[in-house]
Amino acid sequence: MSIEIRCPGGSTKLQLPDQITDGQTVAVKCSDSACLGSYSVKIKTVSPLVYSFLAECPECGAKIELTSDVEESEVVSCSDCGVELEVAEVKPAIVLKIAPAEAEDWGQ
Ligand SMILES: [Zn+2]
Ligand SMILES: [Zn+2]
Repeated sequence: MSIEIRCPGGSTKLQLPDQITDGQTVAVKCSDSACLGSYSVKIKTVSPLVYSFLAECPECGAKIELTSDVEESEVVSCSDCGVELEVAEVKPAIVLKIAPAEAEDWGQ
């Protein structure tokens, strides 16, 4: 009995390996030819299944945990260096980029 989770890159499902344990990080590939995504999934607990997707901070290289419903252009911040990051791509992998500085209106 395999466990399937939502693929961030599309409407297909990602299949988790049969043997997973709490705290494990697994590499998962999407079988959909329109996606072919490859993701790092951190299994927090197996039962109930709680997991997050991992992506790398382009600033400091730390692993950033993204929610299971991660979407393109979502903004997260790095817990290591504190930089604001934007999800630039969700397929074929989750890619983070430094979020553009907010255009502030100085009242001109
Ligand atoms: Zn996919
Ligand atoms: Zn960082």
